[in-house]
Amino acid sequence: MKVVIIGGGVMGLMTARLLAKAGCEVVLLERGQIGHEASWAGGGIVSPLYPWRYSTPVTALASVAQKAYPLLAEELIAETEIDPELTVSGLLMLDADDARDAESWALIQEQEIQRWGGNALRSRMPGLAAGWQEGLWMPAIANIRNPRLLKALRRALVLEGVMIYEQANVRSWQYSGGRVLAAVAADGCEYEADVFVICGGAWSNEISAQAHTAPLAVRPVRGQMLLYRLEPGALPCMVMAAGRYVIPRRDGHILCGSTLEETGFDKSTTSNARSSLIVSAERLWPALAGLEPLAHWAGLRPAAPNGIPFIGRVPDRDNLWVNAGHFRNGLVLAPASAQLLVDQLLGRATQLDARPYQLPSALPVH
Ligand SMILES: Cc1cc2nc3c(=O)[nH]c(=O)nc-3n(C[C@H](O)[C@H](O)[C@H](O)COP(=O)(O)OP(=O)(O)OC[C@H]3O[C@@H](n4cnc5c(N)ncnc54)[C@H](O)[C@@H]3O)c2cc1C
Repeated sequence: MKVVIIGGGVMGLMTARLLAKAGCEVVLLERGQIGHEASWAGGGIVSPLYPWRYSTPVTALASVAQKAYPLLAEELIAETEIDPELTVSGLLMLDADDARDAESWALIQEQEIQRWGGNALRSRMPGLAAGWQEGLWMPAIANIRNPRLLKALRRALVLEGVMIYEQANVRSWQYSGGRVLAAVAADGCEYEADVFVICGGAWSNEISAQAHTAPLAVRPVRGQMLLYRLEPGALPCMVMAAGRYVIPRRDGHILCGSTLEETGFDKSTTSNARSSLIVSAERLWPALAGLEPLAHWAGLRPAAPNGIPFIGRVPDRDNLWVNAGHFRNGLVLAPASAQLLVDQLLGRATQLDARPYQLPSALPVH
């Protein structure tokens, strides 16, 4: 079977890898460069933020994906010699006002959450500022260095024989009845296949609209991030409060994120967000105070309603599939999401119930 995937973010790359490993002939079309949009811009926390606040479908995907990541990281290192630096640093959430909900959720989900009072916080995390009342500590939460993950996935695809076309901006489709015959790029190149998968992140609605499908409720939500650097190990874990976080990388880099902004497809950075993130960084980890951020960027999250991604076939197109809309959690959810898409596409049994992620039916014709 020949499959064309549109979109070279984490979703397209992981979907392509599983399809290639299953013996499909895979072509990956990317409008710009592979792995340069949301999947690059993200922080790489391998967990939803405040995970107990999410719906069952998101938690189900996250749980499968978190279990899959260690093996995936090992496989990528073995296949590509690129280490995506999956690091179990733990996540400390400060002064969350729903700690009881977190504890109940943790019991049901069999996740470890420890509740630390002010004294425990100060003795276990001496680098924190004074004044925090309470912490929720999740020791098993990892982060992944997403730019390296994307590089490793890209190399893995090349080794699997996947054909990657960059600067291939899909603008229209050829179809006959309910079947798509070819994706057509802006330069006129036609890419024929048996099956097509839209992994276009925040642009997925635009791409599917060109195939005259029912609207796909995925919209862009901008997130801005800052980058700092301290000595390796100076920040021992991920720390977050009031929705803002700092993430340590192994080499001492520290990311601080992120804003949530409804600015359409505008990916520019702003001085307001920069100032606000600087305040957050210093509040979360005082050793960052006074340091000049090394970099500042923005990305567009693909937001589906309630953050529940669309993973399935387009109802009014026999051979058009979608894997998109993962909002704030695409990096953590990707392994499970790609597996669920590929199992459905190949007619295999799925580990998760696929129904919560199905696409809406076509609008009635009138
Ligand atoms: C600031 C920020 C912080 C984040 N932090 C985290 C985190 O800590 N943990 C987490 O799990 N998630 C995080 N996320 C969310 C995560 O990054 C996204 O959910 C995920 O990357 C989405 O992956 P994707 O492949 O669907 O989209 P993308 O990475 O955006 O990829 C879509 C690709 O499709 C291509 N494309 C679009 N249109 C076309 C076309 N017409 N033809 C061909 N190609 C096309 C685009 O160029 C792009 O490369 C964060 C996001 C942001 C912005």
